[in-house]
Amino acid sequence: MGVSEKMSRLGTETAFDVLAKAGRLQAQGMDIINLGIGQPDFPTPDHIVEAGVKALRDGHHGYTGANGILELREAVAKDILDRKSVEINPDNILIMPGGKVTMSFAIEMFGEAGAEILYPNPGFPIYESMIRYSGAKPVPIPLLEKNKFSFDADEVLSLITDKTRLIILNSPANPTGGVVPKEEIDKLVKGLQAFPDVYILSDEIYSRMTYDGLEHVSLLSYPEIRDRLIVLDGWSKTYAMTGWRLGWGYWPDALVPLANRLCVNYHSCVNAPTQYAGIAALEGDQTPVDEMMTAFDARRHLIYERLNALKSISCVMPKGAFYAFPNISKTGLDSRTFQNRFLEEEGVATIAGTSFGEYGEGYVRFSYANSIENISLAMSRLETFLNKIKG
Ligand code: PLP
Repeated sequence: MGVSEKMSRLGTETAFDVLAKAGRLQAQGMDIINLGIGQPDFPTPDHIVEAGVKALRDGHHGYTGANGILELREAVAKDILDRKSVEINPDNILIMPGGKVTMSFAIEMFGEAGAEILYPNPGFPIYESMIRYSGAKPVPIPLLEKNKFSFDADEVLSLITDKTRLIILNSPANPTGGVVPKEEIDKLVKGLQAFPDVYILSDEIYSRMTYDGLEHVSLLSYPEIRDRLIVLDGWSKTYAMTGWRLGWGYWPDALVPLANRLCVNYHSCVNAPTQYAGIAALEGDQTPVDEMMTAFDARRHLIYERLNALKSISCVMPKGAFYAFPNISKTGLDSRTFQNRFLEEEGVATIAGTSFGEYGEGYVRFSYANSIENISLAMSRLETFLNKIKG
């Protein structure tokens, strides 16, 4: 085949493969519980859907500016001001087709042969995929269970070399549900003063999804790094809008024209009605978000308790997002075998920890974006599965 060499370096997201396999098994008549996929099981709230439909009826059929409509960028800036007390110029916000694209653009902008990019491991698989694709060297930041899956600021700083261009951070985190404590972020930001040429990409897609009254700390709260900070956030998780494809990125002044040019080259703009739906989401009633989080919290407690009641499994209490990341190493199975056998034999879809990097070995991701009934049933099936392996 005449495709370029770099295509061989592009990875993927196993979650989509597991989803397809679960679909095939279901079509063959198996009763499947899907704890694999990372999306809310709630519908997009009505008023948001209505705003999208209205936008179409009102004739918003055409291209918008590549960076998104001003009204939406202003709504994002106001949301940041209300939530984080940080003032942002709407011109630094770029509306994107999902959160993912901000990540791809940032990695593309800084990655090339000879460059190094630090990224969380285990972490969202697209970080490593895009770093390799760009030609840069991926340098893992190990996220360990003993640190409750937070990073250690001193360790991150120790990984920086004169080749480091970009550091990727993600809190609350996929796949671990870990949240980085403010003290650790303070320490990292302070240490980064010694590396003024290193940029930071903070993936805050789960920023509204924390528990136990824990407040999310945005990297936007640190003016000392604002001129080299890119922030990724969006509507997918918070407003149950994964399929709408709507996200935003904050870009520092110097990078805005470059990011804008990437938008023009790749997608021209995000579809117009979705952008209007995004305004309704930010400015409208937030009760559905609160209700969804209350439901997730109850499920979090349930899955945490049921997992920890099993002899060969232990699980750190997730503090954010909607994932539990139990340690399964005592089962005697590696992560991939666990994932495959649990799906094929018991009909429960989960994702092997190694899908998120080599530091995920010994763990499996359970998404609890599913009903209490299904989570309970999945935990009973897990008990059956573990007894079977033991026997
Ligand atoms: N970042 C993280 C950490 C994620 O888990 C996800 C989706 O699962 C994304 C980004 C991408 O979000 P979106 O669907 O808006 O592209």
